[in-house]
This record gives sequence, C-alpha cells and structure tokens, in this order.
Amino acid sequence: MDTQQLLYKGKAKSLYATENADELLCVYRNDTSAFDGEKIVQLDRKGMVNNQFNAFIMQKLQQAGIPNHFIKMVREDASLVKRLKMIPVECVVRNVAAGSLCRRLGVEPGLELKPATFEFFLKNDALHDPMVNDSLIITFGWATQEQIDQMKTYTFAVNEVLKKLFSDAGLILVDYKLEFGVYQDTLILGDEFSPDGCRIWDAQTKKVLDKDRFRKDMGDVVEGYEEVAQRLGISLTQTA
Ligand code: ADP
Ligand code: UDP
Repeated sequence: MDTQQLLYKGKAKSLYATENADELLCVYRNDTSAFDGEKIVQLDRKGMVNNQFNAFIMQKLQQAGIPNHFIKMVREDASLVKRLKMIPVECVVRNVAAGSLCRRLGVEPGLELKPATFEFFLKNDALHDPMVNDSLIITFGWATQEQIDQMKTYTFAVNEVLKKLFSDAGLILVDYKLEFGVYQDTLILGDEFSPDGCRIWDAQTKKVLDKDRFRKDMGDVVEGYEEVAQRLGISLTQTA
C-alpha cells in the first residue's frame, strides 16, 4: 500500500513523498493512455514491466556516464528517484521515421533518418503537446540556453548507448521521448525510458513491440513489452 503522501498522479505514474525531501517514490501503474489522455485502459502487468524495464535502462545509462534520477527499485512496480524540478519539454530523437513526423511531413514510415533528428515538444496535454524550438523555450523561460544544449547532448548520448543495446538484441530503436529536470542545480535525466515512450521494432520482421500496439489496437501490448525485456536480458519478477 502507498501510505505516503501522493504528490502527483500522472497518466501512468504516481509520485509519492518519502521521509527524504530530496527523494520520491515513483509508482508505475497499469493505466495506459494515448492521444493526450483521450484513450485510457488498464493493462495487466504493465506497471511492473515498465518499472523494471526503466530500472534496467537507467542503470545502463548511469554506467555510460549519463546522470539520471534513478536510485533503486523498491518494489516490482515502484522505484525510488531523486526529486527533480522538471523542465516542461519533451525531447524526441528519431532514428527511423514514424508517428507524428510522418503525419506532419508526409514522410514514408520506416525511412532511415541520418543523422538522427531532434525535436522539442511542450508538455501540455490541453494543447496536444505542440512542437516548440529553442527560441520559444528561452522566451517563455521553460529552460535556459545552457539547459537546452545539455538536453540535446544527453539525448543524443542516450541514442548512442541505446541504439547499440537494442541492435545487439535484434531490435531497432525507432524513436523515443526523454524528460529532464534539475536536481541541486544540475540538469539530469528524469521520468522514464520504457516501451510506453519509445518505438521498438524487430530488426528482421519490423514487428511493432511498443505502445503503438495500444495506439493502433494491435493487441498483445504488454506481451510486446515483455518480448523486448526478455530479448534485452531483463528478468522480470512478477507476483501478480
Ligand atoms: P504525465 O504527467 O505526462 O501524465 P506520468 O504519469 O508518467 O506522465 O507522470 C509522471 C510525472 O512525473 C511527469 O509529469 C514527469 O514530468 C514527472 N517526473 C518524472 N520524474 C520526476 C522526478 N524525478 N521528480 C519530479 N517529477 C518527475
Ligand atoms: N512520445 C511520448 N509521449 C508523448 C509524445 C511522444 O512518449 O507525449 C514518444 C512516442 O512514444 C514516440 C516518440 O515520443 O516514441 C515520438 O512520438 P511522435 O512525435 O511520433 O508522436 P505520436 O505519433 O506518438 O503522437
């Protein structure tokens, strides 16, 4: 039971206060949403799969020198994290064209993007997360130029680490979304890296193994996430 004070209930995770003011308990729920929260369902096991997936990835990134908020897993569906002051933008890197890039630019899905692209989106469901740029971010005070530069550098550094990790497992990291925040005056990676916030395809068959299975009603959503986890060597514990 989560007896601590609930500080924030998002679409997929809940953040609780802990006895340490600098740390939060991040609980991954089974709620799954798409289209800015318009479509929401509960998917069995998703919370615990994403928590353990994220823990594995965040530790890989720490080993590669990319600082992030992850401290430790405390339950199969929850982790302790550093409490950040979040920067309200999403950083998206794409290695292969899919999703909104194709809708916006009329690009064929599956086109390899070289070099990989970078986009900022404002975190605002009511406005449908509009695309923004450095100029808007600075003018509206969402981040400084230095923070923008750091977010780009870290987001591309993550790409180098994870493209290889996935490719070694016969998977393509198509695109992904990262969020950053500030901890004791330092910008670090926050939020999560899981199949809820990225696209992953089988390298041979191009089978979709991420949240697009939910967006497009393809079925076997969590089974897709579990297949990726298993291929990355993540041993999922489940008591449910
Ligand atoms: P959303 O807010 O988009 O519905 P979630 O359900 O994933 O998304 O909620 C998690 C929320 O917690 C997000 O708003 C995210 O920016 C924020 N967050 C993630 N990591 C941290 C952290 N370490 N400290 C404070 N807030 C965080
Ligand atoms: N993404 C996300 N949260 C968002 C928007 C996008 O996690 O609010 C992820 C999405 O899962 C994909 C990548 O960012 O891996 C790029 O998403 P895109 O811009 O193509 O938007 P979509 O097609 O999902 O609307």
